[in-house]
Amino acid sequence: MTQQVYIGLGSNLQHPLQQLQRAVDRIRQIPQTTLVAVSPFYGSTAVGPGEQPDYVNAAALLETRLQPHALLDQLQAIEREQGRARGPQQWVARTLDLDVLLFDNKQIETERLQIPHPRMTERNFVLQPLLDLNPDLALPDGRRVQDLMAMLDHQGLWPL
Ligand code: AMP
Repeated sequence: MTQQVYIGLGSNLQHPLQQLQRAVDRIRQIPQTTLVAVSPFYGSTAVGPGEQPDYVNAAALLETRLQPHALLDQLQAIEREQGRARGPQQWVARTLDLDVLLFDNKQIETERLQIPHPRMTERNFVLQPLLDLNPDLALPDGRRVQDLMAMLDHQGLWPL
């Protein structure tokens, strides 16, 4: 069975725009998976403590026959290829961050995988590209992405 999945992409190191373009090319090669659409790219101000370079963010819509953890394996392999060291610290600068935001209407709570992605509703740089892909998108609990975005301020986010 084919499932619709939304992925978030982010980078703020080593030519972020190129990192995202390269990641999109690699996502096209994931087995049993079709890349349906990629959102426009956005610049965003880094969140979290300390000085960090700005991010480039985007979202992508995939159709996949993979199970959620198998898809995460594929995405983490791409992150590793593009040189992201996975350390204990959460808010570090990164060459590539790939998040599974939504996986059909599934709600998943395991140690490795939480879907919907737990912090997506607070982040304009996640919600805006999702809206570009699908203005009618809703979370499994029925909340509409459009309504969630309306509750956030639009600061620190600009189209590239
Ligand atoms: P981060 O540094 O924010 O990219 O977090 C990476 C860690 O989050 C990895 O160890 C993943 O196993 C875990 N994780 C939990 N839920 C998700 C998700 N929906 N998408 C990607 N990674 C996730």
